[in-house]
Amino acid sequence: MTLPFSIEPLRRHLAGQDAPACAYYYDLDHLEQRIESIVGELPDNVRFYYAIKANSDTPVLQTLAPHIHGFEVASLGEVHKARRAAPASPIAFGGPGKTGPELEGALAADVELYHIESYLQLVRLNTLAARAGKTVKVLLRVNPRFTLPDATLQMAGKPTQFGIDQHEIEEILDNLGRYSQLRCVGFHFHAISNNLDAHSHLMLVRRYIELTLSWQRRYGLPVEVLNIGGGIGIDYAPDGRQFDWPHYCRGLAMLLESGDIAFSLAMECGRFVTATCGCYVTEVTDIKRSHDEHFAILRGGSHQFRLPSSWQHNHPFQVLPTESWPWPCPRPGVTRQNITLCGELCTPKDVLARRVEVEQLRVADLVLFEQAGAYGWHISHHDFLSHPHPARIYHRNGQLFFTEEH
Ligand SMILES: *Cc1c(COP(=O)(O)O)cnc(C)c1O
Repeated sequence: MTLPFSIEPLRRHLAGQDAPACAYYYDLDHLEQRIESIVGELPDNVRFYYAIKANSDTPVLQTLAPHIHGFEVASLGEVHKARRAAPASPIAFGGPGKTGPELEGALAADVELYHIESYLQLVRLNTLAARAGKTVKVLLRVNPRFTLPDATLQMAGKPTQFGIDQHEIEEILDNLGRYSQLRCVGFHFHAISNNLDAHSHLMLVRRYIELTLSWQRRYGLPVEVLNIGGGIGIDYAPDGRQFDWPHYCRGLAMLLESGDIAFSLAMECGRFVTATCGCYVTEVTDIKRSHDEHFAILRGGSHQFRLPSSWQHNHPFQVLPTESWPWPCPRPGVTRQNITLCGELCTPKDVLARRVEVEQLRVADLVLFEQAGAYGWHISHHDFLSHPHPARIYHRNGQLFFTEEH
């Protein structure tokens, strides 16, 4: 695959470094173009949130903020990150583990909207909001009864720790009057992750709308917003078929026009927004042969880029050849061979791509993993084995800058 941005500034930067290369590189110009085109195709009545757990770096949040409705967060730490990066952006606070102190912190930060994931969360928030003298808006997160399309991860339609089962939602709606500090303004569904099929995603949204309309009628609820979650996928296979976003947006417009719908839709995407804006570059530090197979060792690995091992896939990559070779021995390498790309950790699980064919790969060449902008650095266990962290490099308007943020 060709990258959607140039890596020349990165190559020039790395050429001036002595230590073996190891860096994340994010192109913020590309990110801005991407969010403009994503949001630009949406029908009018759809609020677009960015789910910051996919990549919560300040430059990323600041690039996105002017183009989106707000941020979806899932911890008090994320509330603070979002507020620091873009104080004027609304926040929706989700997550199954909201504790009392976290909710207090969120109330103090004037979070605009809460996604309630359990009966106890409802009681906690109501109690703490009363103590703070506030009334706040909530959506109830639903785990629906119906089954869902195929996707890499499923969070609903089966037993999970997320949201509130459909029948329990109905009990809560029967008793909403008890929660005097909460204004229930709608429902939230986030059922699948990494779905690549726009048609099945639309069918799911149709079911969400039907259920919302039926509850609205039955309970006389003034529904303002239906949040249909994230979960729009990225196909990591080199010849993969990408999610048909224009088709999806046209379908949403038709759904919104067809029913008697007086509420807005909201969505909160992570992966789809930031996956393509970043890559992870590492240097080959050794190549060896073991029991007739070839192995390359990389400066870095799954402690910095856990995505391929958590998904158990071969992550797409490119080889960037380099020419200098300082050691007094022939340069180890392979030509037209299958090779396994391993990290520097002392565990056989530290593999980023297994038995993949390369045209040529030598020690001191660079390997660039594509589509590493979402769930790359941010889901990784950075300090296992105490290796130095990768450089985190951003490119914007011809300038490079760096962050030390975790
Ligand atoms: C993780 C998450 C998202 C974002 O999911 P993507 O698959 O990255 O789009 C949205 N909403 C909730 C509740 C989540 O947990």
